[in-house]
Amino acid sequence: MNISYTESKQLKTKLSEENLGFGKNTTDYMFIMDYNDKQGWYDPKIVPYSPIPLDPSTCVLHYGQGVFEGLKAYKSKDGRILLFRPDENIKRLNRSCDRTCIPALDEADVLEAIKKIVILEKDWIPTAEGTSLYIRPFIIATDPFLGVHPSHTYMFMIILGPVGNYYPTGLNPVKIFVEDEYVRAVAGGMGTSKTMGNYAASLKAQDKAEKAGCIQVLWLDGVHRKYVEEVGSMNVFFKIDGKVITPALSGSILPGITRVSSMAILRNRGYEVEERPLSIDEIINAYEKGLLEESFGTGTAAVISPIGELLYQGKNYVINNSEIGTITSMLYDTLTGIQFGRLEDKFGWTYEVK
Ligand SMILES: *Cc1c(COP(=O)(O)O)cnc(C)c1O
Repeated sequence: MNISYTESKQLKTKLSEENLGFGKNTTDYMFIMDYNDKQGWYDPKIVPYSPIPLDPSTCVLHYGQGVFEGLKAYKSKDGRILLFRPDENIKRLNRSCDRTCIPALDEADVLEAIKKIVILEKDWIPTAEGTSLYIRPFIIATDPFLGVHPSHTYMFMIILGPVGNYYPTGLNPVKIFVEDEYVRAVAGGMGTSKTMGNYAASLKAQDKAEKAGCIQVLWLDGVHRKYVEEVGSMNVFFKIDGKVITPALSGSILPGITRVSSMAILRNRGYEVEERPLSIDEIINAYEKGLLEESFGTGTAAVISPIGELLYQGKNYVINNSEIGTITSMLYDTLTGIQFGRLEDKFGWTYEVK
């Protein structure tokens, strides 16, 4: 792939690495590649970061035909630039494309595009504890056409931004609202894909959770409002009576890369991990018997997020005294240790960008 490059005339001022927050800042460049039916994916380029002109009738603006990914570049103490399982993000991007009638991308080309722009922007990778460079690949349908139909033209872009903690509270246990009215996805819908519309569907419940003093929503299944699915933009785990349980991928849950990686680490350390339907009643029952030991969410943005409290039907359930549990902190330390190149990577998950 021959990526053209246009130099930026004016670079942005780099930010202080304290209080970077999440998603507020972008770097100097972006990657763009276009698609049409004749040429396939064509004209890959790296250009100065800027707004993109879109016709007001552009498909994605009306019907949400668009998908995205999220991964991070980490700088190790000895200056190496590491990605974490980027091949998994790229495969998932193509699965999301398939679900939304977007033409697949060549996996090697996507990896090359990520590598090229990360290297170009390497000075933007922060090094303070817990910081990294967030990478956001995404695809939008660009036909200027108001009929409901898969687009014939698309734009694939990659933008980057330095990030700190996803939650302002850092690695502190969060309070979660168990949502039993709105749903995020149903089996057969788009819940297993990283599509833009899934997030539009989630906002109302998120707003409700925040008004109730919670930071995220714990979604229940769309049919029975009974089985737990995910927490906001994270997969979810519960430790009950010594066993670690995470909801099985039922067709409405996003298959997180942090989720499978956490399961592999836990199993490698001898923990019993169950992937199965897990009802909210089972969790409340375990709580009442004193058997609900820990809970946490997993995802690229927050890595591991301890859950200190559930709010369900007006009642509060405090987990592990609202303190970070043993496996929660073990997983955080192990995952970030591998991601930042501090620990031996015996799973072969890190990918060095050179
Ligand atoms: C991206 C995402 C996750 C987490 O996936 P990772 O690959 O671990 O980052 C979980 N749930 C939803 C809904 C997501 O969009």
